[in-house]
Amino acid sequence: MSENLIEVRELKKYYPVQGGVFKRHIADVRAVDGVNLSIEKGECLGLVGESGCGKTTLGKTLLRLHDATEGKIYFKKVDITYLSRRKLLPLRQKMQIVFQDPSNSLNPRMLVKSIIAEPLVAQNLMGSKEIEKRIIELLYTVGLAKEHMMRYPHEFSGGQRQRIAIARALATYPEFLLMDEPTSALDVSVQAQILNLLKRLQKDFNLTYLFVTHHLLVVKHISNRIAVMYLGKIMELGPTDEIFDNTLHPYTQALLSAIPIPDPDTKMEKIIISGDVPNPVNPPEGCRFHPRCRYAADICKEAEPQLEEVYPGHYVACHRWRELKG
Ligand code: SF4
Repeated sequence: MSENLIEVRELKKYYPVQGGVFKRHIADVRAVDGVNLSIEKGECLGLVGESGCGKTTLGKTLLRLHDATEGKIYFKKVDITYLSRRKLLPLRQKMQIVFQDPSNSLNPRMLVKSIIAEPLVAQNLMGSKEIEKRIIELLYTVGLAKEHMMRYPHEFSGGQRQRIAIARALATYPEFLLMDEPTSALDVSVQAQILNLLKRLQKDFNLTYLFVTHHLLVVKHISNRIAVMYLGKIMELGPTDEIFDNTLHPYTQALLSAIPIPDPDTKMEKIIISGDVPNPVNPPEGCRFHPRCRYAADICKEAEPQLEEVYPGHYVACHRWRELKG
């Protein structure tokens, strides 16, 4: 049986809203609102949902880049939820992040050499000679060359810049990588190259990924399992094939129906989700998706459906999944 590298239990991340003359705490933005999730060692879990559903906040909270409001985060069975910065430091090298836009995540005034060396220096992991050797090794690993280390980020294309960001994330021999929409800012032609690189690196170094994206075809290509998030909650979770071939949640069905099919003979009904995502300060009672769900019944407005395992490894939070499946 595979062991879990990451586990989160009832994780919540709220951001306080202040108002009035005295800037009192008047409400909370419930970005992540009671998430249970585990990520097995060596797997890629895709986390999908519309913008503002809380997926990036969930990723950053489990990486401890944001402090959790409630709940627990375990890394290799160690509770890291409230570990001090000092105690967290050795774990930082095992948990890294690749951001969406390398133009913003790479310091334009630093040479590539210094960018990749930064986490090694911060962690005091090796001397300067070993650092240089490691930088060259990493550049080759991500498909760049030794001579690239004396250049600045603006001298590279978008895809090459993302390769530099990946090299930096790999520098400290991590086990877990949060991929925060790592291909969204790239040209379509380059996206596939970066995805293939990430797949190869995962295999070569036995890496574990949480791959955050709004692009379902991207996660289909790279993920072993997919979690679908809506308004701070997981709505459906399961093996990638199950999510695509045996879709149970109406929200997942709508997301899948929006994927363009490059075959004029294949007709698929487009499910339009009406309205906007409700305000996470005041999420709807009952099922959070009910104001936009075309199957909403009375029970959906009254009781919140819990995420339950309905097939082996396939979880869904919907009162009506059984009858809708027919
Ligand atoms: Fe739609 Fe009801 Fe299922 Fe929510 S619980 S997704 S409102 S059918």
